[in-house]
Amino acid sequence: MARAKTPRTLHDLPVVKGFRPMWMRTNYRQAITLNLEEYEAIRLVDYESMTQDEAGELMGVSRPTVTRIYESARKKLALALVEGRTFVIEGGSVEIAYGIYQCEECEHRVQLPTDEPMPEVCIACGSEKMISLEDCFVRGCRRCRRCR
Ligand SMILES: [Zn+2]
Ligand SMILES: [Zn+2]
Repeated sequence: MARAKTPRTLHDLPVVKGFRPMWMRTNYRQAITLNLEEYEAIRLVDYESMTQDEAGELMGVSRPTVTRIYESARKKLALALVEGRTFVIEGGSVEIAYGIYQCEECEHRVQLPTDEPMPEVCIACGSEKMISLEDCFVRGCRRCRRCR
């Protein structure tokens, strides 16, 4: 029997939902999707300068698995850069350690324990346009302007 895939726990989410190439018409059909496991591998190895062993340990995966995730992520980044492809960060087998919410008006972000509900209004600007970044990044909420 195949072992169920264990979700990796993330302690934060990316600051952006994706990238759009300059000087080119946005073509979402050609968009590349980087999942959150791939994003995390890039963040730990290339941004935090960890070894793949260290990254694998933090992500709770074996060395061959972290290598596979990392190489897939690098390939996608290269495709986006060289071919000018739109790039979306979404999906992946992850759990978020906190409830992370962001205001669509002023982009103020709050982290709350997972058992607390989403704030009804933004504490920074009073807007009611709050979104759950977990919905947005993990499932693709299709409601916020990041997902459209
Ligand atoms: Zn706000
Ligand atoms: Zn969204």
